[in-house]
Amino acid sequence: MNFISTRNASPAVSLSQAIAAGLAPDGGLYVPQQMPAARTLAAGASLAATATTLLQPFFAGDALEPELAGICEQAFDFPAPLQSLATRNDHVLELFHGPTAAFKDFGARFLAASLSRLRAGQERPLTIIVATSGDTGAAVAAAFHNQPNLEVVVLYPDGRVSPRQAHQLGCLGGNIRALRVAGSFDDCQAMAKQALNDADLQAQVPLSSANSISLGRLLPQMSYYAHAALEHRARHEAPLNVVIPTGNLGNAMAAVMARALGVSLGRILLATNANRVLPDYFGGGQYAPKPSVATLANAMDVGAPSNFERLRWLYKGDDAALRTEFFARAVDDATIRETIACRYSAYGEVFCPHTATAVNVLEQLRASGEAAAGEHWAVAATAHPAKFESVVEPLIGREVPVPAALAELLKRPAHAEPCPPEYAALRERLLNS
Ligand SMILES: *Cc1c(COP(=O)(O)O)cnc(C)c1O
Repeated sequence: MNFISTRNASPAVSLSQAIAAGLAPDGGLYVPQQMPAARTLAAGASLAATATTLLQPFFAGDALEPELAGICEQAFDFPAPLQSLATRNDHVLELFHGPTAAFKDFGARFLAASLSRLRAGQERPLTIIVATSGDTGAAVAAAFHNQPNLEVVVLYPDGRVSPRQAHQLGCLGGNIRALRVAGSFDDCQAMAKQALNDADLQAQVPLSSANSISLGRLLPQMSYYAHAALEHRARHEAPLNVVIPTGNLGNAMAAVMARALGVSLGRILLATNANRVLPDYFGGGQYAPKPSVATLANAMDVGAPSNFERLRWLYKGDDAALRTEFFARAVDDATIRETIACRYSAYGEVFCPHTATAVNVLEQLRASGEAAAGEHWAVAATAHPAKFESVVEPLIGREVPVPAALAELLKRPAHAEPCPPEYAALRERLLNS
């Protein structure tokens, strides 16, 4: 299968090329030239085996095709269980059992497993540059740690990520370098972009990015929805409806694509924080990107959802169809707090602020009857609450135990290198490593 750009002004490329490139040369996002026919999937298979079957048509004919099963085993070596909530027919799809306790571990690990195979036999390693405000950089750093033929340089704004996040970035060492930049996230992103556009530098140090528009992160995310929907249908004979907390629409786009491949998902609805671009659009307004506002669910503080272009592509630009099919509801910080506190006091359930937006939207749907009592719904739980302990613990009045994998990371000593917010400083570090 070949892949084309959503903007239609770049040549079609193979899967390997699309994964290695990240963004298409015309600035668009890579999408399959046509969506594969529906897949026949069986319940009872492991998550890795489900991923291999689901992703096979996308890998057909590519250099990575013989590697697909191995890549899936490496990326999907922790579970994504569908658990019941206390409220009737409500479930939670736990996507936070990976090394950094967020769903981004799945995509980052799949991308790392793919890229390390693509680089095998090359003389020089590929260096991945990531600018991060927290979660993405941690998932990418952990996923690429000790992967052959790959190095990572993470830039983060010093003092502007949580202490736990900074620790996760700086504690790996080896092929992972963490630079704590004396500036803002925008400074970090500008420095990374400049490096990716510096042809002279790249002749000496091959570079790539790993942000959420990469196909190598998007495609694997379909797998946990497929696995959960299959297990659910085997038990309940009913499709699973989902509410997904959304920022850049990466996780949600994967669910939409899985459904387009025949996975038995019912409705797919979106929850955002106070950043209202998607709720306004699906509610009938223009698609109007805005500067993001800071919220408690900070991994969703997005004012221009990057995968929106892919969603529009899948619906052939038909805004009316998109508005019939989806809606998004915005949940403000006060409601996020209230949801976390109430679910704990009523049921003993503990959610991270991102997951809490989706839990609240599901509560609204149940209360209004938009989600009928007999329907089964799941919220995607995108991070473990222990990652956001400074928000969650005061609301529930107790400590949240840290999951073992994350505790393992937090035990390691951390050392990030200081770096001034100037491109020259980054360039010099890349050349002298
Ligand atoms: C990245 C992230 C999100 C948003 O995911 P998108 O794919 O950008 O929509 C939600 N929750 C958590 C915890 C995240 O890290």
